[in-house]
Amino acid sequence: MGIPGIGEAIADIITRLHRTGTHPSLERMRSEIPEGVLEMLSVPGLRPDKVLKLHKQLGVTSLEELQVAARQDRIKNTKGLGPALQRKVLQGLEIRTAALGARHMHRAAELIAAAEKNLRRALPGLKRIVPAGDFRRGCELVCDLSLVAEETRLQRGPELVNAAFDGSFRLFKGIESDILPDGSLDYPDDVLRQFDFIVASIHGQFRMDREAQTDRLLRAVANPFVSILGHMTGRQLLRRAGYDGDVEKVLKACADHGIAVEINANPWRLDLDWRWHQRGLELGCIFSINPDAHSIAELDLMRWGLAMARKGGVSADRVLNARKLRDFSDWLEDRRGRIAPTRAGWRAAGHSVGRGRPSRLRARKISATRPPHAKRGRYRIRSA
Ligand SMILES: [Zn+2]
Repeated sequence: MGIPGIGEAIADIITRLHRTGTHPSLERMRSEIPEGVLEMLSVPGLRPDKVLKLHKQLGVTSLEELQVAARQDRIKNTKGLGPALQRKVLQGLEIRTAALGARHMHRAAELIAAAEKNLRRALPGLKRIVPAGDFRRGCELVCDLSLVAEETRLQRGPELVNAAFDGSFRLFKGIESDILPDGSLDYPDDVLRQFDFIVASIHGQFRMDREAQTDRLLRAVANPFVSILGHMTGRQLLRRAGYDGDVEKVLKACADHGIAVEINANPWRLDLDWRWHQRGLELGCIFSINPDAHSIAELDLMRWGLAMARKGGVSADRVLNARKLRDFSDWLEDRRGRIAPTRAGWRAAGHSVGRGRPSRLRARKISATRPPHAKRGRYRIRSA
């Protein structure tokens, strides 16, 4: 102890926060103030006392409502708030939007087209370039400008690694695809087709009502390209509650369609919550413990996912990525067998396709000996 200015009361609060990650008064305050009000703190130049005033006097509970209130001159005309604050709010909101890099759709389209042209000039080996991210999702304002490119030469990387290990080790290639509000995925089938596995997850549009959100998830689960349903509830611990949805119904659908339920090992997520694991097992689900790694170091997050699966009572035989290499690749092959092959799709994947519609059997055989690969993806490493 003995830190100047820190008495017993504050020391107690700090200790509690450290030990439990929270404090009763913090929880009380959190329950009193809507989450959207806290978001208003991200508006440049808006101090906490002003945010509280705007909330208490105008009932504003989100950034959207704040913007409406300012546009309707309600801040200006309220006693104790006034024109100066309104100006500050409008200015702050504008700065915030610019800082987030949002652009209108038509401007984003121009920038993406220019980027594509540059990329083609710099790397003539690129086979196919498609816009991704916000633009692809049809957002009115586009924050991220991303392109997905496939390159013939790089595509062979995993194949070369796999060949070098001669069957004792295999690199599988997968990608996390966004579940759009209507339940479809954000990549076209011809891109999805080229991966060994697809993790489908929701990353935006959390505010849909329970029924719509459940339908969205159910549609994704029924998609034959999907192998794993990622972080099913979207919660982030100590940050947000996640979206509303009927977990039981979605688990049942995962079991029916043979889709693995992710146990996301990132300590922020740990989603699906271990409290649901038993119910998932009863319904016939299998799980996949995934590090959700965005770097090599984050592969080590696996241990937290394992800890949760153990806490939830999930045995190894119900964990997809605890299986032997052979069983794991058989499972993936079986999933891929549900995808109806199209000639254009196989050609895009670099296969020679004869006349007529390729039979499912033939397509599967090709994929077993020569798995097609694209450049970007989430890699999963497994050994026998
Ligand atoms: Zn994700």
